[in-house]
Parts: sequence; C-alpha cells; structure tokens
Amino acid sequence: MLRFNSAFRILAAIFTLWAVAGCAVNPVTGRSELSLVSEAEERKIGAEQYVPSQQGQGGRYQVDPELTAYVSKVGKRLADVSDRKFDYEFVVLNNDVPNAWALPGGKIAVNRGLLYELNNEAELAAVLGHEVSHAAIGHGAQAMTRGTLMQGAMAIGAIAVGTSDYKKYGDYVLGGAQLGAQLVTQTYGREAEREADHYGIEYMVRAGYDPHAAITLQETFVALFEDKKSGWMEGMFASHPPSAERVENNRAQVAAMMPKLAGHDLETGEARFNQAIAKLQKTKPAYKAFEDAQKAINKKDYQTALVKVDGCIRQVPEEARFYGLKGDILVSQKQYSAALQSYDDALKRDSSYYDYYLGRGVAHSRLNQTALARQDLEQSAKILPTAMAMNELGKVALVDGNRVDAKRYFQQASQAKGLLGEEASAAFARLDMADNPAAYATAEVYADRNGRILARVSNRSKVEMSGMAVQFRALINGKVVERRVALLTLAPNTYQDVSSGLAFPADTAWTADMMAVQLLGTGK
Ligand SMILES: [Zn+2]
Repeated sequence: MLRFNSAFRILAAIFTLWAVAGCAVNPVTGRSELSLVSEAEERKIGAEQYVPSQQGQGGRYQVDPELTAYVSKVGKRLADVSDRKFDYEFVVLNNDVPNAWALPGGKIAVNRGLLYELNNEAELAAVLGHEVSHAAIGHGAQAMTRGTLMQGAMAIGAIAVGTSDYKKYGDYVLGGAQLGAQLVTQTYGREAEREADHYGIEYMVRAGYDPHAAITLQETFVALFEDKKSGWMEGMFASHPPSAERVENNRAQVAAMMPKLAGHDLETGEARFNQAIAKLQKTKPAYKAFEDAQKAINKKDYQTALVKVDGCIRQVPEEARFYGLKGDILVSQKQYSAALQSYDDALKRDSSYYDYYLGRGVAHSRLNQTALARQDLEQSAKILPTAMAMNELGKVALVDGNRVDAKRYFQQASQAKGLLGEEASAAFARLDMADNPAAYATAEVYADRNGRILARVSNRSKVEMSGMAVQFRALINGKVVERRVALLTLAPNTYQDVSSGLAFPADTAWTADMMAVQLLGTGK
C-alpha cells in the first residue's frame, strides 16, 4: 500500500510537471525533451537580460556602428535559415577578450577581441552560426532546467578591460542581472558544443557560406589554444575548449555535405569582411596601448598608465572607454575633480555604460557631494547592479544619516566575494548590531561572592562591537531595580565583564533567578 502510494505520488508529480512544463519536441534536433522553461520564458529572459549581460561584458562597441550593422546582417542571414524563429539580435561588445555568447531567445554578442582573429565573413558566420544554434536548440534553457547554473553573485571576470584597480573587487553583478551573467559565462558541455558546431555548419550552408570556414576557424582556435594566448584562455576557451576532435568532426561533416553542394555558390566574403573590419584593424594599436595602460595600473604605475591612456585618446578621441579609464586612474591618485572631468568626457561620448556613472559617483562621494554621488550611483546600479555601486551608496547614505538605507545597501554589497564583500558585511554588521545585538553577542548575568551583579558580554561576531548597552534587572530587598550600562567597544571573539554597580546586601540570601540581563542596541 505504501509502495503503491508513493509510486502514485511520483506519477502524479510527473504528470503535473508534464502539464506545467510540457514535453516538447526540439525544433532543431527533433528530440523529445522536458523543459521547465517555456519558449515564452526564453524570449522573456533574453529580452530582460540582454542589456545587463552586455554591460557586464564591456558594453557595446560604439565607435564603429557600421561594424555592428555588418555583424548583425551576417547574423540575421543565419538566423533566417535556422530552425527556430526568435527575434534574433546581434551586437559587438567593447571587450578585448576573444569571446561570443548567446542568451535564450536569440540574443547574441561577439566581442571586438574575437573579430581581430577572423579571416573572412564565412568564419564570422561560423562563430555566429554556432551561437544561433545554441539559442535555437535552447541550451541555455536546458541548463536552467537541469539547474546547473551557478548560484550567487558573479564577478565580472571576463572583462580584462574597462576595470581599474579600485573597482576590481566591486564588480560583482547583483540581483536579477545575475541570471544573465551566469548564462553568458557558463559552459554547456561537450555534447551541446558538438551540436552547436553541427547545426552552425548546417545554417552556414543554408545561408550560402562556404562551410570550410568552420574548419579553418577551429584550426585557428587550436593553434591559439596551444599557444595559451592570453585573453583566449579566460574568454572563448574557458567555455569552448578547442580540440583536434572538433576540427575532425567539422571536417567529416563538411566532407559529407560537399557532394550535394556541387554547383552551389558558396562564398567566403573575404573582401567584404576586410572592408567591414578596416577601422577595427586601424585602431588596434590604440586598444593594445589601452591594455598596456591597464597592466601599468595593476602594477600601480599610474604615471605610465596616464601617459599610455592619453596616447590612446589622441589616436581614437571618440572612444569613451579611454576617458573612463583615465577617470579611474585619477580616482586612484585621489585627483577627484580631474576624474570628474574625465568621466564627463566619457559620458558625453557614451551615456549608456554603467561604469562611467559608477566612477563619477565614487568621485563625487569622495568629494562629499552626496546628492550628486547618489544620483550617479543609482543610475549605474539601474543599468547594472554591482556590489561597488551598492557599497558606495551605503557610504553615502551613512553620511546622510540614513541608517536604514545604508544597511540595505551594505547587505546587498556583502554578496560580493573578496575585499569589498568583507568590507560591506562588516559595515552592515556594525549597523545591524546596534539594532539586533543578540544576533552578534551574548550576555550572561552573575553575581560575585560579594553579591555584586555583573554580566559577561561575549562578542561572537567578526567585527568590533560598539553601540550597545547592557540592561540589568535585579530583585533587591523585594524591589525591582534596573540599571543600564553603556558598553564601549569589544573586539571580535573577546568578552568583557561589565559591572552593573548593583549588589545584593551581604546579609540577604539571593538566587540566580533574582537577576537578569539584556543586551540593547542603541540604534546608533
Ligand atoms: Zn558554444
């Protein structure tokens, strides 16, 4: 009976899941599969996460809108022949790390750093066809269904560019934007990659591209992988480790297709590609110098960094990112007014990137311009909620005497790992213990052999305790007497015996239930 019952319950659960989630035939692979994420949800996730995910990966590459239009056109050509109709979108991100990703619902991005390494339009089509396939097959939704996405705050680790030293511990994505950050940095697994390669080649051919480019592209990747070329290992190759096997798979697939393709006009689009990336190639030295400037920052050689970044600005004066980095360098040198000017220059050229508002907000905060700081930091967090923005908003709220907001901000920032996360949790704890002392410390009442009433207060937290009081209550000579003693500071993991100043008269018999103690927060 019991066995029947539990089997019945499992069956019922399966049917419920079936009804809610639906078992659908995959429009690309033809496989029957269970998905807890509906197609409508895939579209919604893609639409909601696209902008924050772009922001977390360097923001859009703005100085060459023709290039984005070109990449978008190549992408649409593949999307149009794919097996699943989504509202596909393609953008180029201002990120040196060679990488590309797809969100559910067909929201795709390719990094500027990847485009340098491609030889022709067909290779670009191989990259985009692979990403279109991930979206069309629904690998992101499958990962969500399996629950294999990492949980918690995500570091914006993939950007080697655009972050300076004072920001590097704070660039953790918080809140709803975490989903996109997880989706674009996850690994789908070998089987999913093999599938994306396979259908990517299929779509290339349907769109009229020479599929041999999928082979040459993989060969380039293998060569770069063997060189352990920096940037690639943390970018593309973190999620797509290239292998001789992938080259061979592509080669075999293309060889099998070729007889049927005789007489078809399959293009590589080399001339068109070279024209499209001409500006990118021409400005490459400036972005290389930009990377050098960041290396100098990491060594705290701010003078070299400033010289380098000024050189970048002379070469590509329309690139907002260079002014943003200059602002970061100036903040690190505590030249806040000059930093404000640089962030203004950056925002004049690109008002869409969260990081410039963040930098300007920090500079305002350091200058005690709290209203302006709050405005910029809130704008930054609205575009992309980061631990750095929350922590700084917490500090600004404290200056303004707003403890409630400060606690809320510090609590959010404490999700970050590393220095900033620790700093924020300590700031939160310092405020919270004044409200909820019992969560951080214990107090035990006792009387010594002379009848004097004391309390042993133990700080069980990792932060120094302050802003508390000990409230004593005792029954002395038949009367309730109360005493409040303010507690000064108490180091982490230490205790202190606090005297109440009260005592039982020497000739009275007293018992433990005649005294009590309570920790009070002073709310300050
Ligand atoms: Zn992939």
